[in-house]
Amino acid sequence: APAPPPARHLFSDAAEAAALRGNLLAWYDRCKRDLPWRALVRGHIGKRGPALPPAVWVSEIMLQQTQVATVIDYYNRWMQKWPTLQALAQASLEEVNELWAGLGYYSRGKRLQEAARKVVSELAGQMPRRAEDLQKLLPGVGRYTAGAIASIAFGQATGVVDGNVIRVLCRLRCIGADSSSPAVLDRLWDMANVLVDRSRPGDFNQALMELGATVCVPKAPLCRECPVKQHCQAWRRVSVAQTTVTLVFAGVGDCPLCPPATEPWDSSLGVTNFPRKAAKKPPRAMRTATCVLERRGYHGAPEYLVVQRPSSGLLAGLWEFPSLPLAQDLQEEKEREELADHLQAWTGRPVAAKGLRFMGEVIHIFSHIHQTYVVYSLHLDGDVTLDPALSPSRWVTEDEFHASAVSTAMKKV
Ligand code: SF4
Repeated sequence: APAPPPARHLFSDAAEAAALRGNLLAWYDRCKRDLPWRALVRGHIGKRGPALPPAVWVSEIMLQQTQVATVIDYYNRWMQKWPTLQALAQASLEEVNELWAGLGYYSRGKRLQEAARKVVSELAGQMPRRAEDLQKLLPGVGRYTAGAIASIAFGQATGVVDGNVIRVLCRLRCIGADSSSPAVLDRLWDMANVLVDRSRPGDFNQALMELGATVCVPKAPLCRECPVKQHCQAWRRVSVAQTTVTLVFAGVGDCPLCPPATEPWDSSLGVTNFPRKAAKKPPRAMRTATCVLERRGYHGAPEYLVVQRPSSGLLAGLWEFPSLPLAQDLQEEKEREELADHLQAWTGRPVAAKGLRFMGEVIHIFSHIHQTYVVYSLHLDGDVTLDPALSPSRWVTEDEFHASAVSTAMKKV
């Protein structure tokens, strides 16, 4: 078995851990942000009724990769429409995608609904109560979400580790090894499980995340206002003399949790020396030709053709203008020809490449793809019969387009 890490990387002093919990919870009680899911949870917490777990679950899924300010409106509309898992289980994927449109990472909404259906049809409407079971039984529920639901909705004393918690724990314990590596993540999970408050696990986990979101922020942490600074090794390091810092960090040898020898402590960074991550792979570049096909609708207003994407993969089930992924470095002329052929399949009539009007390019960054949409437009006269054998497609007015399940990228187009 690997040797345990040095004490400076652990919470091995029980009295110190208890003091940290107390200080953090007292701060949270005083300073936590008033967020709609917290109000909902507060309303249900004493009763621990069936509405509590979905209220937590939906917020946790929406908050993954998305800012709080963006989530609030989506969360309120979602909970109004589907306050229970039974209601959500009866919704169509189309309705879910419509409400989710603009929130990004669309598979989250789809899997939330699949999981609700599973709870209703296979688990007698009862959500599992323990983190291990939530993770094992519900699609889209990973280790973090399972821990958050189990601790906040069911009071299980289990820790959580998300991006905010990683930052706070790495600073509290001077962990400078790659925080995205499995070895470091395992240590952080162990630490979160040791640290979690046994009597208020949900509040404790939220407090740790809240600290990361509002005080121990990535670039300019507010250490002087921090309720746990007296327990923070990183803060202690920058508060003592530079010579001591040099000694502490020069003597780490091959500790697996210290900054690697090739990237030693940088005194100009202070506490933001932690956490550290291996460099991310650059996003993959993709080009897609897309065409805004327009016709005059029955009442004279313009209408646009939208087609539905496949039910799996990127932007699954969302609607878009007819689009075609392009090979890199394709000549413009060839690009037009390929798009014209593609459009012919949708419209059932020949489309002249020369008739396509180039409108410009739209760039949209997905998490792992740098997507460039090469946008064309084409006006069609006369009636166009859509082929029902192809993927679902329909003509929409501008208002209908905006109310449909379309991605932010298509709205930019
Ligand atoms: Fe983060 Fe600074 Fe608080 Fe340490 S003292 S936990 S670095 S805000």
